[in-house]
Amino acid sequence: MGSFLNVVAFRVPLGRSVVSPGSACPSCGKSIAWYDNIPVLSWFILGGQCRHCKAPFSFRYAGVEAFFGVYTLAIVMRWDLTIHSLTCILVGAILVAIALIDHDHWLIDDRMSAAVGVVGLVGHGASLIIDTGLPIGPSLVSVATHLAAGAIAFGLLFGMGYVMSKALDKEALGGGDAPLFAAIICATGWAGLLPVLMLASVQGLIGWALLSRSGGIGNREVEHEDGWKPEEGALPLGIFLALAGLEVMLIGESLTDAYLNAVRNLL
Ligand SMILES: [Zn+2]
Repeated sequence: MGSFLNVVAFRVPLGRSVVSPGSACPSCGKSIAWYDNIPVLSWFILGGQCRHCKAPFSFRYAGVEAFFGVYTLAIVMRWDLTIHSLTCILVGAILVAIALIDHDHWLIDDRMSAAVGVVGLVGHGASLIIDTGLPIGPSLVSVATHLAAGAIAFGLLFGMGYVMSKALDKEALGGGDAPLFAAIICATGWAGLLPVLMLASVQGLIGWALLSRSGGIGNREVEHEDGWKPEEGALPLGIFLALAGLEVMLIGESLTDAYLNAVRNLL
């Protein structure tokens, strides 16, 4: 799946099929044989370059494959072989692709955000019915609460972006950020609302502070069709919303528990 996500992140923004043709070297165009296309391993065996023309292949390909393998393993260790795990893995996969595309193009595809929301909602309902044996009625009610949380999430981030844009007199939030946040909260439910917002903001700020002097985060060579370019100091927030979504699906409950315990011990 990690390997497929690299293909999705590269081809979807270009409007190309993710199914065919098979992978080829972007430099010499020679197709990549299956034995040179083994996730993570092939990148190291080939020394990060094309077998034929020796053009360098970014380490990101192997990094994404390894990252998604570790994430999947962690989810299954945390939630066992359940529908809930499957949901976290599928939602996580789309989030990784969204983050990569936001990094490269400063765009969040609303269709991909919608897919996060739909997979999250359907997966949550199926998990309640199949994993926990809850009857269909109460399961649907719970799905509705996730949908309501997603709607509130949209309003919250959209409202914040609107107020900040007015205050700063410039675009403060990308158009795809609020729908992505809403979709993530459709998957996590109410419990994820504040943790995802907090984790995305704090990690975004840290990343921005660490990297703003060495060129910033995201591809700076981008120019959209309408002439938009990332300003100096701008941050592709979608990367951090996606990261926070992965974190909350994996350890959200532990984070909230640790926070509540810390507060109880203080009082
Ligand atoms: Zn080549």
